[in-house]
Amino acid sequence: MTKRILVFREINQEQLDALREEFHVDYLPGVSHTEDPAFVDALSRAHGLVGSSLKITSSLLDRAPNLEAIASISVGYDNYPLDELTRRGILLCNTPDVLTETTADTGFLLIMSTARRAVELAELVKQGNWKESIGKPLYGSDVHGKTLGMVGMGRIGAAIARRGALGFGMKILYTKASPKPELERELGAQRRELEELLEQADFVCVTVPLSRETEKLFGAAEFQRMKPGAIFVNLARGKVVDEAAMIAALQDGTLHAAGLDVYEQEPLPADSPLPHMANVVALPHIGSATHETRTAMAQRAVDNIRLALKGERPLSPVNDEVLND
Ligand code: NAP
Repeated sequence: MTKRILVFREINQEQLDALREEFHVDYLPGVSHTEDPAFVDALSRAHGLVGSSLKITSSLLDRAPNLEAIASISVGYDNYPLDELTRRGILLCNTPDVLTETTADTGFLLIMSTARRAVELAELVKQGNWKESIGKPLYGSDVHGKTLGMVGMGRIGAAIARRGALGFGMKILYTKASPKPELERELGAQRRELEELLEQADFVCVTVPLSRETEKLFGAAEFQRMKPGAIFVNLARGKVVDEAAMIAALQDGTLHAAGLDVYEQEPLPADSPLPHMANVVALPHIGSATHETRTAMAQRAVDNIRLALKGERPLSPVNDEVLND
């Protein structure tokens, strides 16, 4: 019997053709919610799923009796009920490594553009308001030589820290993650408790996975603890931050500025004040969104699902224990 794969995000024609050589593929790249009748119908027959950005719940899994494997086109897997997948023997795969450097570039884009007020000042030029040499009220802050506090020192965190230390001469602090002696040697990174990092860093950059432990890791108390003038960058997931507390801190000056790629609700609701705040650079979740990297991520997902459905070890399984059963 030919197995069936539901692909619910865009992949390129070559990747689609490769899957179609071995499987029956339901290709629904435009699906925006899991109640879409075409999605529900294809799910009911699928042995494999390939996609991203849709919340896959336990009750949705009840409607997928044949499901054997999911290949997410993302490294974060907070959209999937991991324990439930493992309990059901469904393999979950993600796309680490191929997006690390691009996402780190986005992290530095946020650090630089927020510190140097690039969006706000480019807007001033665009509006025809550059009438004289800009004065002190519009100066930014230096990035080079400052202290970068990494909350999350995994693949992406380390790649950002490397840019900071080696490219910009920054002092690197990191917290909580297991000790990283190789990064301490390479970059002079120093491990600190979160409170201490918040008190010392000029830039606090978040790259932790969203989990029960990290949900709302940042709230009013954490913003209060940050240095005056410090800049907050969130590249992880919106729910790692209490967004209402962050907005209040940005409005009352507790928090100097923020560079954001991710939000509690995405796309941002129309009434969110964030895009209108001069001290916020708000990007539309583009951490890995380059042609090269999105193609590589889709390719990794295609490779993962092909291997998984053929009973072979995929390149990047998340719940290995399913393979060992
Ligand atoms: P990773 O290699 O697994 O790194 C995650 C790091 O977070 C690890 O070092 C881990 O510590 C650390 N950590 C976990 N809980 C922590 C806590 N409570 N406090 C401090 N550190 C903690 O993952 P990655 O590939 O770097 O990706 C990280 C996350 O970035 C993803 O899960 C995803 O949500 C997000 N992301 C966003 C975009 C975007 O488009 N904006 C793109 C890609 C990824 P240990 O080293 O001790 O395990």
